Amino acid sequence: DNRQLYLGMDFGTSGARYALIDDQGTIQAEGKRNYPQYVSENTMDWATSWKATLFLLLEDVPVSLRPFISSISIDGTSATTIVVDSTTGEPLCRPFLYNESFPDALPLVKSVAPANHTVCSGSSTLCKLVSWWNSHDSNKESSLLLHQADWLLWHLHGKLGITDYNNALKVGYDPEIESYPPWLLQQPYSQLLPSVKAPGTSIGHLKEDIRTQYGFPKDCVICTGTTDSIAAFLAARATQPGKAVTSLGSTLAVKLLSTNRIDDARFGVYSHRLDDKWLVGGASNTGGAALRQIFTDEQLEELSKQINPMETSSLDYYPLPAVGERFPVADPQMVPRLHPRPESDVDYLHGIFESIARIEAKAYGLLKDLGATQVDEVFTAGGGAKNDKWTKIRERVLGLPVSRAIQTEASYGAALLALKGAR
Ligand code: ADP
Repeated sequence: DNRQLYLGMDFGTSGARYALIDDQGTIQAEGKRNYPQYVSENTMDWATSWKATLFLLLEDVPVSLRPFISSISIDGTSATTIVVDSTTGEPLCRPFLYNESFPDALPLVKSVAPANHTVCSGSSTLCKLVSWWNSHDSNKESSLLLHQADWLLWHLHGKLGITDYNNALKVGYDPEIESYPPWLLQQPYSQLLPSVKAPGTSIGHLKEDIRTQYGFPKDCVICTGTTDSIAAFLAARATQPGKAVTSLGSTLAVKLLSTNRIDDARFGVYSHRLDDKWLVGGASNTGGAALRQIFTDEQLEELSKQINPMETSSLDYYPLPAVGERFPVADPQMVPRLHPRPESDVDYLHGIFESIARIEAKAYGLLKDLGATQVDEVFTAGGGAKNDKWTKIRERVLGLPVSRAIQTEASYGAALLALKGAR
C-alpha cells in the first residue's frame, strides 16, 4: 500500500477542524473539535486550549490512515499573536487574539510605518508586538514572536522561529521584496520577528516522539501554513488569474486571483502573495447580517422559491447592518437604504438580492479599476452560496459564470498546502 495522504488543520474563531486528502484532493477523513475551556486566573488560557485541540485532532485521525500521511500543514486566524521564549517556546504572556485592538501602540507604529500601511490598525500583529514590547521588561532578549499557526506547527516540527508570508503580512513583512522592510528592521523589537517562508514549504520532519506515539510514518513532513481566510480561498481551488471567490456570509467578501498586486487603504483593499500571483481582496459590510435583520433563514428559503431570477428588479437598495461602508464605497457615514418596501416580501427579497449583486459587481469593478486582473469566473462560499436563485441573479448582474465552490473549509485548503509541501 503506497497511498499518500495529506493532513490540513484549521484553527478558526470558534473551533478547529481537520481534513485528510489524497493526491487527487479527495477527502479521506475529516473532523471537528470545539476548543476546550482552560481557565487560569479568571481568563481563558487560549494557548493551552489550542495545544490540547491540536493533539485531540491528531487522535481523531483514523489510526488506519495515519501511516500514509506524508505531510501536515495548519492555518490559524490572521493576526493572532503569541510572544514566546526563544529557547523553550513557552508563551511569555497570554496570546493576543485576531480581533483584539491595541490602540496604545498605534501612534508608535504610525510614526515608523509608511502612511496607510496594513500594520496601521490597532489589531495588526505589529501593534500587538509593540504593545507587548512597551509593557514588558523581562525576557526581551530571549523572546520571539509567532503567529497561532506557527506556534502550533512548532509543536509538531520543533524548530522555533518560522512563519509564512501570509501570516507575516500584518506584522509588516513585504512579500514582494521577500524581506521585512528597512523601516521595520531598524526597530529594536524587530529582533523578535520570525523567519519567513512561502506557505506550504517543508520545514522538517514530524518530531519522533509524536510520530511514534500516534503512528505517523518516518518521513512525515511539517509544512508552513497560512491564515484562515486564505486557506478558505485555497479550498475553492481557484488557481488561475481572473478566478474569484465571493464569500456571502455575515458580510460580502471578495477575493480575486490577480497577476499583479494592488493595495488601497481607502477601501481596505490589500493583496496577499500566493507564489507567483496575488490574492487581492476587499470586504463590504453588506451581506447576510443585513439580511438577517429582515428575514429568518427559513423565510429566506421559502421566499426565494418564488423569485424569478431572470426578471430584473427595479428596486435599488444598499443593505447594511449598521451605518458605514468601506468597500466598494468608502463612506463611514453611509446609511443603510432598504426603502421603499414593496407589499410583497418576494419582491422585497428579490430587490435586496439584486442590490447586493450590484454591490458585488461594483466590488469586482473597483478591483479592476485599481489595476487587478479582470474577473472571469466567480465561486461562492458562505451561507448565501446555497441559494440557487440568488446565484442566478448574480450571474445575470455580474455577466459571469457563478457557481458554488465545491470545497470551502479552510482545513481543506491547509491540506492542499500540505500536499504542495510534500512535492
Ligand atoms: P458567517 O459569516 O457568520 O460564517 P455564514 O457563512 O454561516 O456566515 O452565513 C450566514 C448568513 O447566510 C446569514 O447571515 C444568513 O442571512 C445567510 N443565509 C442563510 N440562509 C440563506 C439562504 N437560503 N439564502 C441566502 N442567504 C442565506
